[in-house]
Amino acid sequence: MYHSISSLDAPIEIYALPEHRFLQHIALLAESVEPGATQVVDLVDDTLAGISITFDDGYYDTLTIASRPLVENKLPFTVFVTVANITSGDSKYLTKSQLVELSNLPGATIGSHGFSHCKLGELNESQTLDELKNSKDWLEQAISKPVVTMSYPHGSYNSNTLRLVAEVGYKFAATSRWGFYEVGTSPLEIPRLDVWGRDNRRTLEQKLAGKWNLIASMA
Ligand SMILES: [Zn+2]
Repeated sequence: MYHSISSLDAPIEIYALPEHRFLQHIALLAESVEPGATQVVDLVDDTLAGISITFDDGYYDTLTIASRPLVENKLPFTVFVTVANITSGDSKYLTKSQLVELSNLPGATIGSHGFSHCKLGELNESQTLDELKNSKDWLEQAISKPVVTMSYPHGSYNSNTLRLVAEVGYKFAATSRWGFYEVGTSPLEIPRLDVWGRDNRRTLEQKLAGKWNLIASMA
């Protein structure tokens, strides 16, 4: 799980990974296309085992920095977008036309990250439905493609949320819970590995090998 990829060299915050580190990650992930290695697979293709790359929030740099090496290396990726970020006019985030451009790149899947980035687990039923349905409708209209994936803003959800997520028509939903998406895990509660601003190639390798699972589960 990535957030922002920063063109600045110093890691300024936990959710902004410097571009040179991101490129190290891509090199590691690109090696996974070699026979025998764990593949990078599309999140929406749950018939294949492997690693899925996701980005949350809809940052401008997902298009301007992150997408190029992903496309060049033929690595599929999913971008979970908060509609209110897109319509905010804030230059940190994608505009609507940039979102469309991103959605048309080979290997790109656009998912919802809620309409207004609120904690779904703290909303009542009609508020939750608004967040889930309005964001899905808005994104589908914008990119002219079905949107069946989402990630929970702030990782927040409860059993009611899960029922409504299915009812609205999402097939895959990613949490912020640390872990691997294994056989038996619900597709509406997909765990992820969080990538942080200081993570180098070695750190990512360790995280993918499960070496951070215990530490992260205690955090
Ligand atoms: Zn978010």
